[in-house]
Amino acid sequence: MVAVNLIRMSDAPFRLVIVDCQKNRGKGIAYGSYSDRHLLNVPCGKMSAFPDDPDHFLNWTLQQPDYQGIDRSLLAGAFVPRNVYGAYLKDLWHEARMAAQGKKIVLEEVDDQVVDLDKTVNGFALQLVGRPGVHADLCVLATGNQLPVDPRVANMSYASDERYFRNPWCKKAVEHADSSHPVLILGNGLTMVDTVLGLLEHHHKGRIIALSPNGFNILPHRHPGLQYSALSREISATTTLNELVGLFNRHIKQIRRLGISAEPLVDSVRHMSQQLWQQFSLEEKRKFLARIRHLWGVARHRIPLHLHDKLQQLRIDGQLTTIAGRITDINPTDAHLLVRFWDVRAGQSKTLEVSRIINCTGPQTDIDKMEQGVLKNAQTKGLITQDDLKLGIEVCPSTLNVLDSGGQPVPALFTLGNNLKGLFWESTAVNELRSQAKNLAQHLLRGM
Ligand SMILES: Cc1cc2nc3c(=O)[nH]c(=O)nc-3n(C[C@H](O)[C@H](O)[C@H](O)COP(=O)(O)OP(=O)(O)OC[C@H]3O[C@@H](n4cnc5c(N)ncnc54)[C@H](O)[C@@H]3O)c2cc1C
Repeated sequence: MVAVNLIRMSDAPFRLVIVDCQKNRGKGIAYGSYSDRHLLNVPCGKMSAFPDDPDHFLNWTLQQPDYQGIDRSLLAGAFVPRNVYGAYLKDLWHEARMAAQGKKIVLEEVDDQVVDLDKTVNGFALQLVGRPGVHADLCVLATGNQLPVDPRVANMSYASDERYFRNPWCKKAVEHADSSHPVLILGNGLTMVDTVLGLLEHHHKGRIIALSPNGFNILPHRHPGLQYSALSREISATTTLNELVGLFNRHIKQIRRLGISAEPLVDSVRHMSQQLWQQFSLEEKRKFLARIRHLWGVARHRIPLHLHDKLQQLRIDGQLTTIAGRITDINPTDAHLLVRFWDVRAGQSKTLEVSRIINCTGPQTDIDKMEQGVLKNAQTKGLITQDDLKLGIEVCPSTLNVLDSGGQPVPALFTLGNNLKGLFWESTAVNELRSQAKNLAQHLLRGM
């Protein structure tokens, strides 16, 4: 979307090089799913790629053969497959390519991986795996979602076992699962739901166990359209985390009396979440991550009601079990993977024999824990710095200009999206990405 905006807004020719190591160019992990059962977790009417054209995706979807004739307001509130959004992004890219030709913008799309980055006198030299490097006057790190981190146990041999799937978003993770032992899913959020659906689609008949530190069950979108404003009116630029928790508790008590659960409260401060995160002290952020993050995540990341019903039925049928626990050991044997974990509710150590493990714990953000690659190398050279909580990369908030290890802006190096979680907390959904992409493109064009 940075590239699309650059092309849309530019009125002079320039050269634009996009290097991407994934086949699903433009769709990424999120919108190039192996299954049409994987749905957006945001209604169609709120997924426009352009901040100043809020109905853009809705209008596009209504023109697609599968959705023509569907009631507009119904579709606006519906959760369509993520692959539909992938097709939308492809379409936007196709249009942008055409526009680039008309504007004499030279477009190069390179299928490769950037492994290193060096500062030169007038920009950056990017090193690729399979071909000569690229020189860029301006460089945007739009590296997005990283793979989850492998659980740390004494014997890490499981990590190279073919029954362990670190990448939960690939089809292989759900194909041909052996039903003689349960499948173990690490994590209990939206990717767990996708994985369960993927396993069922691939005819898995055996048990599925989802293990996470708290074992909270994912919630459905129960109150669509319900607007709550009393909480946000009480929040100010000086509200502390403790005060916020106090406010939440008071308001939850009030709405519970009316039979309504906490999710509308969380939704009502969605537009303020970046501001709230930025006004918290480092100590408060640490406290949030340690004590509130999981609860917040459950209330914030919900699934459509019909998917929730399906999961509930799987639980009732005994096919899906959720456990609150922490992995302490994983030992591959010929017949299965032997997993020891601390069962939080039972307060004792237990063992599971599972046929495979699928890691659905979410994208890794800590560069220290990533494999060798462009981010790690750039950090070693002091070109980029992690934030104190290791959630992302330090930038100047107004320009998204990356800060070096001395806290100084690195001219011409920018980042956005997942890499800004430390600064904004909410920085991965389309709601945030579309504004970041547009603002960054505007800023880059001013500097050309
Ligand atoms: C499974 C999933 C579902 C989601 N669903 C929703 C949703 O319903 N609604 C919503 O608002 N948000 C959703 N999100 C969040 C958000 O919209 C996505 O994360 C978004 O796709 C991020 O886009 P991106 O381009 O920043 O990163 P990505 O889509 O991850 O793309 C990054 C690209 O960079 C490439 N890359 C990385 N490193 C290198 C390198 N060194 N060299 C070359 N190429 C490299 C990767 O191959 C990849 O193609 C979802 C996220 C996930 C993971």
